[in-house]
Amino acid sequence: MKMGSTKRLVVKVGTNTLTDKSGLLDKQYLREFTKQLAALAHSGHEVVLVSSGAVRVGMARLGLKKVRSLRESQAAAAVGQGLLIDIYNHLFQQEKITIAQILLVADDFRVRSRYLNARNTLFTLFEKKVIPIINENDTISAEEIKFGDNDNLAAQVTGLVNAGTLIFLSDVAGLHKREGHELGERISEIKMITPEIGELAGKSISAHSRGGMTTKIDGARIATEGGAHVFIANGREENILARLLANDDVGTHFLPQADWRDSRKRWIGMSSAVNGNIIVDDGAFNALMGRKKSLLAAGIVRALGQFQAGDIVAVTNLKGEEIARGLVNYNAVEIEKLKGIHSRLFLQILGYQGNPEIVHRDNLFIFRHRKEGVHEFK
Ligand code: GLU
Repeated sequence: MKMGSTKRLVVKVGTNTLTDKSGLLDKQYLREFTKQLAALAHSGHEVVLVSSGAVRVGMARLGLKKVRSLRESQAAAAVGQGLLIDIYNHLFQQEKITIAQILLVADDFRVRSRYLNARNTLFTLFEKKVIPIINENDTISAEEIKFGDNDNLAAQVTGLVNAGTLIFLSDVAGLHKREGHELGERISEIKMITPEIGELAGKSISAHSRGGMTTKIDGARIATEGGAHVFIANGREENILARLLANDDVGTHFLPQADWRDSRKRWIGMSSAVNGNIIVDDGAFNALMGRKKSLLAAGIVRALGQFQAGDIVAVTNLKGEEIARGLVNYNAVEIEKLKGIHSRLFLQILGYQGNPEIVHRDNLFIFRHRKEGVHEFK
């Protein structure tokens, strides 16, 4: 199986791993952690660090036990992000590594020009042996445009840079089986993320970080579908990064699900925001699942949302499951007119002869695992 660059990896570390109980950065841990990252970089790996912690660290500095509003959490992030980068800078300098700060919002993945700019910057940083440290730009990303959690952000970044490996470091040793309400045995390897695996993750959202097992499994789904290896492991276990890369039996390893698709398709499939929804009939659904066909008007039942030509839309089957994501050639109003119709009639209906495909197969990313009811457009 062809995969992303094996020397390039994305490491995501969560707030709870970086901070102590009072929300202060755990400097001893950070020293140990940055040493591990530096060792990888010195041995020729291209490392991207996705680091949470800004909000929590900012809260501690401002003496806030709780944030009472979005504004307050954005202000805390603004304070904390500076403190976070300050300490990383200090520690990486001791390891003779230069770092860069990159703050992203979800739109940066949706708008192709911004996506390409971010990618070019990252690739240039790799050439210069710099470790980019990424976080969500919490100060400006209001609820509706948020990634929501850094697990999702890290998965998107994995696709952005074609990394072959994504490592989630958290305060648990991986995904565990359940025994009643207790945690059972750790699962070493997951070949495919089935609904049962999703259920094992349960729900866990702590007061200071957005993520939990569920968001990690969602992130793992995105990254493995893009062809990457994903690990969830305890960031506090000794020398954890090297051990994961040496294939020691630590953490939970999710195997890649797909061939490494070309960048454009991956960008479409991983885009965190879609602008509309096209519902297809069973005939089109089966044709698309064969992975070789474009989406034609004949199989379209409805177009929902107010998308434009060139936007990304979700393609759902009659059961409401999202089966694909694609870049559309027509806007929603046009598709409503063209649905169920053969392309030879397009000229007559629209007054111009556009593409015969609504979504060309080169612009269509078919999911291996269908997702349920994720988009609501009217
Ligand atoms: N971006 C947030 C922060 O730096 C963390 C989000 C998350 O915990 O996933 O505080």
